Amino acid sequence: MSTPGSHRLIGCHASVWTGQFDAQGLEAAFRGTAEAGFDLIELPMFAPRDWDVARTAALAAEYDLAISASLGLTDEVNISSEDEDTVRRGEEHLTAVLRVLHELGSSHLCGVIYGPMQKHMRPATELEVRNGQAALGRLAATAEGLGLRMGLEIVNRYETNILNTAAQAVDYVTEIGAPNLGVHLDTYHMNIEEEGMRKPVLAAARAGKLGYVHVGESNRGPLGTGTTQWADFWTGLTESGYDGIVTFESFSSRVVHPSFSNSLAIWRNMWDDNQTLATDALAFIRQGLAAGTSALPT
Ligand code: MN
Repeated sequence: MSTPGSHRLIGCHASVWTGQFDAQGLEAAFRGTAEAGFDLIELPMFAPRDWDVARTAALAAEYDLAISASLGLTDEVNISSEDEDTVRRGEEHLTAVLRVLHELGSSHLCGVIYGPMQKHMRPATELEVRNGQAALGRLAATAEGLGLRMGLEIVNRYETNILNTAAQAVDYVTEIGAPNLGVHLDTYHMNIEEEGMRKPVLAAARAGKLGYVHVGESNRGPLGTGTTQWADFWTGLTESGYDGIVTFESFSSRVVHPSFSNSLAIWRNMWDDNQTLATDALAFIRQGLAAGTSALPT
């Protein structure tokens, strides 16, 4: 339902389909995403060095899907660490992801790629923030050379102590000043931390920094079953003029990734039928984008 002239890609996160990214898991994720009608699959690339690039490329061609990737860092590969060796390991880890994405012809890396995705028991220190920004400046330059953009996902306070709101993230990426480094908004996290669903989208877009969007319900389950103020979000997204990638995210204990599911606190079964979940989500997103357009002041 994109506007004429735009090339909006609507994607589905692979964790709707599988928690294992072996041959069988990849096949299930690509097939499910394509059969539900999406344009793009978002792959959680936690282990870039073990990723089966050839098989992934073959599946992308077979199912005609574009690829993006997201991940959250861990303490071992934390670019926002005060320890130089840890920062270097983090940069090497993210550089390996960028190389895999380049081989796959992907355009975007996003997620919590600025720090460990976990509950923190204290605020981030100034040195941690500065180290992370410096590392991201270097990584953005590497990404630029590989034709890739990066989006920093703003997540709730229980998953990072660095970027919890759009305003924080706009300041953070503006200070870094890399043209291919943007802000990645997620409705699930916005619903927890922001004052509303429209203004943060406009603030990021007006700063020229809105680079990636996740659409997830307040309970992480099927779209429309939670408390998210969807009309405000779609209006804001349309007003912002954003025509980039929009990816559906949902997690259930039905599909388990050994570490990712635990980091995200996926303890409950939110759905069993992922094909219906994904098909309904795509219709919900298309309807929202169309409604946002019709709600615009004339
Ligand atoms: Mn997300």
